[in-house]
Amino acid sequence: MEKKQCKVKVVIRVRPPLVSTEKISVSTKDNHVQIFNHRNINENLQYEFSAVYGSESTQQQIFNDCVKPLLPKALSGQNVSIFAYGPTGAGKTHTMLGTPLNPGVIPRVINELFAEIDRLENSEDNEWEYSVSFSYLEIYQEKVQDLLEPSGSDLPIREDAEKNILVPGLAKKQIHNFDEFKNIFGPASNNRTVAATKLNEHSSRSHSIVQLTVVKKKPCRILHGKIYLIDLAGSEDNRRTGNQGIRLKESGAINKSLFSLGEVVDAINNGLPRIPYRNSKLTRLLQDSIGGTCHSVMITNLAPEERYYYDTYCTLNFATKSKKVVNSTVVRETVGIVKPVPQVRKPSPERKEEGPS
Ligand code: ADP
Ligand code: MG
Repeated sequence: MEKKQCKVKVVIRVRPPLVSTEKISVSTKDNHVQIFNHRNINENLQYEFSAVYGSESTQQQIFNDCVKPLLPKALSGQNVSIFAYGPTGAGKTHTMLGTPLNPGVIPRVINELFAEIDRLENSEDNEWEYSVSFSYLEIYQEKVQDLLEPSGSDLPIREDAEKNILVPGLAKKQIHNFDEFKNIFGPASNNRTVAATKLNEHSSRSHSIVQLTVVKKKPCRILHGKIYLIDLAGSEDNRRTGNQGIRLKESGAINKSLFSLGEVVDAINNGLPRIPYRNSKLTRLLQDSIGGTCHSVMITNLAPEERYYYDTYCTLNFATKSKKVVNSTVVRETVGIVKPVPQVRKPSPERKEEGPS
């Protein structure tokens, strides 16, 4: 099969402030995000992305813009992955899962997938039959754990002769409609709770991955598409990783997969000949779903409050690694007041960042 390098699309979503009295340090305009420069608070740092969603953005908008256009690709045998990346508390789970009244990417994908299959199967000259199955796993401390049929063991990741990545022991359930999905997904999500003493601590350190397999067949032809929907571990782990540099390997607590994901996204987006998929479980699992002919979107979630400043700064630098950081003159914002700051500074290009002193 011919492989074409395909960039990972990186978009930003800033959640609304949760408490109206808190100081805000993130502002958005068009496809720019802006924060102050901790080295000189009279200056701002501005980052540009292919799309930036501010605090007024809706679940529907995120789905329609970033996710829905990719579903027909999965229905025609291609692979798609959607990640939510960002610090704990920035809205990853809200974006991916949402609430029953305000559903996120996962339930919307399931709904739209079945609606689209319905349309396709009922169109006049249809000769294809579609089926959808679903697996659910998490990667916690570099161990692959099945959430549908938890066994406690670390499942191996393999590659078949056609370079498809598979997890041989992973449970796979066929689903025919949204309710079937809900009935399996709900209880399976609780398996994350059972496995951990503190859910928050656990969920912020594990990657949860919904894998949908979409099979399209007619006599003598069969196409397999995959959709990965990923709620990544909190990126504040990544900060520790970055700071510790060479000591990374010595520390059992840091998140190797998240660090490797950064390297992989960077390598793909910079067109490097070798993509380091094998450096972690997450990137190995996603080897056939990021890069190659696959379609990937990373939704980078940010919290606007000033107390998240350093996580925001690190997350923006991670998300923007292959792009240039430009300086700007615009605003530093506190709730209810917008103060223009009239300073301009030429940014130093891609220096090694060490964090606030
Ligand atoms: P994460 O999964 O990144 O740790 P959560 O999704 O749990 O973060 O979000 C943290 C809090 O912020 C939750 O109370 C969540 O309901 C709220 N929240 C996140 N994003 C939004 C949003 N876009 N609109 C309203 N509330 C949000
Ligand atoms: Mg979460």
